[in-house]
Amino acid sequence: MSERSISRVTVLSGGMGGARFLQGLLHGIAAGTLPGVAADAEVTVVANTADDLWMHGLKICPDLDTVMYTLGDGIDLDRGWGRRDESWRVKDELAAYGVEPTWFGLGDRDIATHLVRTQMLDAGYPLSEVTRALCNRWQPGVRLLPMTDDRVETHVAVADDTTPSGRGVVHFQEYWVRLRAEVPAETVVVVGLDDSSPAPGVVEAITDADLVVLPPSNPVVSVGTILGVPGIREAVRATSAPVVGLSPIIGGNHVRGMAHQMLTSIGVEVGAGAVGLHYGSRTASETGVLDGWLVDEQDADQVARVQAGGLPCAAVPLLMTDVGATAAMVAAAVELVGRGPA
Ligand code: GDP
Ligand code: CA
Repeated sequence: MSERSISRVTVLSGGMGGARFLQGLLHGIAAGTLPGVAADAEVTVVANTADDLWMHGLKICPDLDTVMYTLGDGIDLDRGWGRRDESWRVKDELAAYGVEPTWFGLGDRDIATHLVRTQMLDAGYPLSEVTRALCNRWQPGVRLLPMTDDRVETHVAVADDTTPSGRGVVHFQEYWVRLRAEVPAETVVVVGLDDSSPAPGVVEAITDADLVVLPPSNPVVSVGTILGVPGIREAVRATSAPVVGLSPIIGGNHVRGMAHQMLTSIGVEVGAGAVGLHYGSRTASETGVLDGWLVDEQDADQVARVQAGGLPCAAVPLLMTDVGATAAMVAAAVELVGRGPA
């Protein structure tokens, strides 16, 4: 049982994996089942914005919206993205005009969000303020911050025999939605990342937290891009709060999504232990960000290897089947690092 009282939790999140994790975290806080975590603990989410794109003149922020809709109870539960009870009349009309691209699903209700966002951005508000305004409606129960207000976009290089170089580059969303992540990702390039800066409040949310969590989000294109914003990795390394992560890889593959393709593209073995060591220990590695790492029970054989890398590690069930199961893994994560950095 932890001795410290945790009243501020900060989570570095992608879309679907992060949002599900956050549902479990909020459930555990409300139910009082997390050791040492106050019943009124506040959660700040630093969300990945490198999936963002402009389409039909609209600014779309998939990960921010997935977190906002999921926690605000507006998400389509079957798809895991976009609005519930959606219709697609605008999309059909655009297709009837022959307007490209047609591969991206923009629902009618969802479009309202993008219209509000785009209008506010056009009026000069930064994305962080726009996000706050959108959250006034959705009341997600967390403070939701984009990792940066700057434009950052993940692009993926793939083989393309229609180009002279034999290579083509597509936006991350095109890789995921149109190509269904079925062709190998040769490289991942995050355009604008090196010149970006953390959005207001992001560094403080990490520095002033009592606990920092890397949820089971994509380690390359979600958590990896957040940590890549200059200043964020440094803040995570410097915070006095314990930092704990949960593996998005179970039994050598992602549960859903494409962490497999992304890890392969950066040369990291697709395994729960390898991902923990890729993030690295704050004390044993010069770039490491973790004080503890959870792997799934199936990957219990990885625990010794992670610990040999200087990173405390435990194996517990990591399938986010419902909020209770997810809250239980949050409790295990808090337990693992309860006494602070190793
Ligand atoms: P995205 O932005 O929608 O791709 O979502 P995230 O980056 O937040 O999370 C996607 C990752 O979550 C996937 O690549 C999976 O590896 C992971 N994931 C999804 N469901 C589960 C689950 O039930 N348990 C664990 N441990 N990981 C999961
Ligand atoms: Ca995403």
